[in-house]
Amino acid sequence: MLRGIPVSQGVSHGRVVVLNRSRIVPAKAGFETDDQAGEEARFQTALSETRKQLTAVQERLRDEFGAKESQIFDAHLLVLEDPALMEEVGRQIRDEHHTPEYAFYTASEKYAEALSAVDDSYLSERAADIRDVTQRVLGNLIGQPQRAGVSDLTEPCIVVANDLTPSDTAQLDPAKVLGFVTEVGSRTSHTAILARSLQIPAVLGLGEAIEELKPGQTVLLDGFNGFVIISPSEQTLFEYGQLVERQSSIEESLDEIRTEPAKTLDGHTIILSANIERAGDVEAVRKSGATGVGLFRTEFLFINRSDLPNEEEQFQAYKKVTEYLAPEPVIIRTLDLGGDKLLSHVNVAAEMNPFLGWRAIRLCLEEKDLFRTQLRAILRASAFGDLKIMYPMVSGMEELDAANVLLDECRDQLRAEGFEFAENLEIGVMIETPSAAMIADSLARCVKFFSIGTNDLIQYSLAVDRLNEKIAHLYEPTHPGILRLIKTTVDSGQAQKIWTGVCGEMAGELSMVPLLIGLGVAELSVVPSLVPRVKMLIRSIEMAKARELAEFALNCDSPGEILDRAEALAKAAVPDFFEKTA
Ligand code: PEP
Ligand code: MG
Repeated sequence: MLRGIPVSQGVSHGRVVVLNRSRIVPAKAGFETDDQAGEEARFQTALSETRKQLTAVQERLRDEFGAKESQIFDAHLLVLEDPALMEEVGRQIRDEHHTPEYAFYTASEKYAEALSAVDDSYLSERAADIRDVTQRVLGNLIGQPQRAGVSDLTEPCIVVANDLTPSDTAQLDPAKVLGFVTEVGSRTSHTAILARSLQIPAVLGLGEAIEELKPGQTVLLDGFNGFVIISPSEQTLFEYGQLVERQSSIEESLDEIRTEPAKTLDGHTIILSANIERAGDVEAVRKSGATGVGLFRTEFLFINRSDLPNEEEQFQAYKKVTEYLAPEPVIIRTLDLGGDKLLSHVNVAAEMNPFLGWRAIRLCLEEKDLFRTQLRAILRASAFGDLKIMYPMVSGMEELDAANVLLDECRDQLRAEGFEFAENLEIGVMIETPSAAMIADSLARCVKFFSIGTNDLIQYSLAVDRLNEKIAHLYEPTHPGILRLIKTTVDSGQAQKIWTGVCGEMAGELSMVPLLIGLGVAELSVVPSLVPRVKMLIRSIEMAKARELAEFALNCDSPGEILDRAEALAKAAVPDFFEKTA
């Protein structure tokens, strides 16, 4: 039994597929003159195999996600048709007797390097395509086609990988991926967040132990506790089967409170809303019984594609969400690219500390066209329901002011062009940096709400990288420093009569719920699948008890003691939700 960090609940049982993400770099090698025809034929076979694989992936993506998504692979297929590239490979095989592996690698790398040296985002994207396709061709040449990526999975399996980027994860098909396990990563990485959103059980941060997992092995993945059990016994499978049954019967029973408010036993109503990543998630929001959307992470409209979504496409996505959920509120967060969510269309140079780098509002305020396009699309969608907007990663007043100047410009343009939009669109900021929490009094005078992004607030305040499994134990939501920053934010908001919500993962941690509402948080926004449980918990506690807990926490120095008290309160209210072991 291996142990990692449980990041997405659920149990799954299946065969391991190892995604090998290491790059193939062939050594310089030649062949005997007599073998030339054979080597050329081997190369042609690898090309046609690659073509077949790419077309199959493309067709599958088209069926599942639509034409737009599948276009990424057009560019890949074109690489295989590139006359200059093929001519160069042919020449090396013919004249220099280089193996097809070495010939293809050097020829394509020469192109990729030349393209990526040009300061043009379109061309550097093509360089990435060439490198991707090269790896596929090389995989076929060396007889290891399984080296391909997440989009090639054909049957339900448990994916094992060193790491999955958020864009890899966004491509996972829940019908094919029963669960996944990675060597690195932790609970608040965007990979983990997406796993919860897609409801794929996942265990991350296994470290070197991941080497124990071999292709074809049967494993049981326990996303509640973070266990990966190799070749589980009948008894283990039986016990886990029962755990799953008990958990699903809890889910079913929660359907009864779907349309009820998230109101404490002593009559305090909390706004319970949902976090989404794609416009298609709206159905899950409605089914969950959430009050609208508290965080729409719009970045996911931008990744896994070969071009940028234009204003019209973004407008349609935002309108769909807003209109579908009207009259309930939808909070759209403006682009939060950077950190672990990189985009090949926007030329972002590698950074030493991407989470402290060119990210979110900082990037948008420089890439003004990108930002304006999004702001215009959001404004136009505001005519279709109760839409609000919030800016991510604000660290000072200037950023809020600068963003609002651009927003005003967009309003003027739209007015002149005759578009309708909500004149009284509410603007909020995310409180994700310690500096924002410390100047919450100033910010509160200029916005209509705060939404605390605890995922980042914790990493920035405690100086604990949210992706690093080695220091995951130091990532403590109950650290007194964090609780005081939350309290300062809530108090500053209340002084200006504006509400504060929490949309980071802390809002969906059951033990944290009483603590947050006790601190005065008015809104919690969580992944749709957690809405029913959080609602039930709120309906099973008294605000008076939650406030007592918060009072205790604000006067306690020990994160561990605060956590114990918080857990005890939540467990007493909904003991069944805490049953996690088979
Ligand atoms: C957060 O930081 O808590 C948040 C909600 O934003 P994200 O997780 O997308 O960085
Ligand atoms: Mg954040």
